[in-house]
Amino acid sequence: MKMRLCRLCLALIGTAMLLVSCQPARDPLPLPQHEQSDLDEMMSSTHRKVSQEQAAINAGLLDDETSATKRHDVSTAFGEDAAPPAAAESAIKSGSDRVLKDSELAEIGESSEAAEASETGEEAEPGELLNHKPEFSSYAYDTLAVREAMQNQVALEEGKRIAFLTFDDGIDVVSTPQLLDILKDMGVPATFFMLGQSMHADNRAILERMLDEGHALALHSFNHSYKQLYPEGVGNVDAVLEQLRTSQEMLEETLDGKYSSKVWRYPGGHMSWKNLGPVDDALAELGVHWIDWNALNEDAATYKPTTVDGQVEALLDGWRRFHGEADTMVVLMHDGGYYQLTRESLPAIIRKLRELDFSFGILK
Ligand SMILES: [Zn+2]
Repeated sequence: MKMRLCRLCLALIGTAMLLVSCQPARDPLPLPQHEQSDLDEMMSSTHRKVSQEQAAINAGLLDDETSATKRHDVSTAFGEDAAPPAAAESAIKSGSDRVLKDSELAEIGESSEAAEASETGEEAEPGELLNHKPEFSSYAYDTLAVREAMQNQVALEEGKRIAFLTFDDGIDVVSTPQLLDILKDMGVPATFFMLGQSMHADNRAILERMLDEGHALALHSFNHSYKQLYPEGVGNVDAVLEQLRTSQEMLEETLDGKYSSKVWRYPGGHMSWKNLGPVDDALAELGVHWIDWNALNEDAATYKPTTVDGQVEALLDGWRRFHGEADTMVVLMHDGGYYQLTRESLPAIIRKLRELDFSFGILK
């Protein structure tokens, strides 16, 4: 606050840098349309077998060198655009908290339980585009803070539990509205990690609905192509930045330049690829922060749960076994026609998290 003027200056400088960085520096990447069938196939070929190793990596049970090797094995095991590592099954631990203000969530449901305002970075920098409507800022948390809380296994706030429901791979014209219906009925906000190629004018109403109903918009690359983003399993700075840029442009153009997003999730998970350090640094310079997860319903696992109870159990099991029942939970789920069971399980997952005393927040 005291530095408001300076922050304004920084914001202006940051905006200028972003604009400069948005200029295509090299040949634009070919961004072929991603076919849902490919994505489904990719998703369905995930595996639990890798998840054990990955969980160990994330749990810090392996030393650095071993971890690096395992990471390599994990990323190459699925080949280029093969399955996103169930790596996905891991996580990080966290701790967090803040309580929800029912009044804040009035618009997204009656018995809402969103988490209450974050104290750090609650206010957007002047001129910076938000990834959610300002009236819902009370339960929007900085992505970097949530990620660090998970990694350091510390609570953001003592004695409180906050869950961040996240849905990857949308927008899907059938699935996404169904998820939104459920979230509205349950009075719970979520963060949608979407593909840039889906954030076009035809889906504008869905994006606007997300904003109106208290959710947050996040980015998950333009086309989810492992081959382009991580050739040979190694993160490619130019490719990732290009897909970030095109995705942000799609989102901003579709929403008339009123909203954007600096919340990023690497397809397949950060934990699955080699040499992402330089990519992380490049993203951070643009104010973009990535986040993985520390709980998942395993809807993309090879041997995935086949019942609602199975998904709930899978989620809790991983959280208990690998993440010390962390008070901050970032839940990975998927949005797409293929994930019917996720939609069927969502109410039960939300009820279970409420039983465990979690309130719900969004990532900004
Ligand atoms: Zn994905």
